Amino acid sequence: MNDDLLLLIISSPSGAGKTTLARDLLRHFPEMMFSVSHTTRKPRASEMDGKDYHFIDRARFSRMISQGRFAEWAEVHGNLYGTSLSEIERCKRNNQRGILFDIDYQGARQIKAVRADAVSVFVLPPSIDELKRRLYARGAEDEKTIEIRFNNAKREIEHYGFFDYLIINDGLEEACARLRSIVTAELSRRSRVASSAETLLRQIKIV
Ligand code: ADP
Ligand code: 5GP
Repeated sequence: MNDDLLLLIISSPSGAGKTTLARDLLRHFPEMMFSVSHTTRKPRASEMDGKDYHFIDRARFSRMISQGRFAEWAEVHGNLYGTSLSEIERCKRNNQRGILFDIDYQGARQIKAVRADAVSVFVLPPSIDELKRRLYARGAEDEKTIEIRFNNAKREIEHYGFFDYLIINDGLEEACARLRSIVTAELSRRSRVASSAETLLRQIKIV
């Protein structure tokens, strides 16, 4: 994989707001590509196949696992989710500066194992009551599904220590600004801008 490419992982307990933050980020950074995962979860009313996820059944997902087609995959809230190698190839072919992975802590660990320079951000809700309120307010799932997700929140938050950055998503504007700042800083790393400096040096030699 291109070493200059920013691999940005965003994770959170369900309902903390990571999809909302990710969308804002992609609006501000057209040079970042969203990695479209595969999942066995049923689509929500607002979701589009191929844009939010590739929605597939368990048999197909299992086949893809045995064919070694995932860079990472995990079971989350009773469904399977994974990032395919071909999705990462698609992002690379687009010649963008970064890829955004909206994945859970298990997937984050798998990506970090092969790319230690991947940057990981964990989004926290301001309180547990507010997390529950947001899960219900989203109105995307039935009560049983919401309770499963809410009950998994503790285990997910326990992994916060694995992440490079933590963002408390209280006021949305403030949280979006923090995420944008992280990306701005990471895209300004010397390694990612060095080729521009080298181009200037070559021009000086020619003059
Ligand atoms: P996640 O992707 O982490 O599961 P979402 O981005 O879907 O969470 O957000 C869950 C719900 O909370 C959505 O209805 C969203 O509009 C809302 N939400 C997100 N951030 C905030 C915030 N800072 N304040 C209030 N509501 C928020
Ligand atoms: P949701 O069903 O709310 O879209 O996502 C549920 C959880 O699955 C979230 O924590 C989300 O980040 C995670 N997830 C989505 N795609 C992937 C993926 O490709 N791999 C892994 N490991 N987790 C994913």
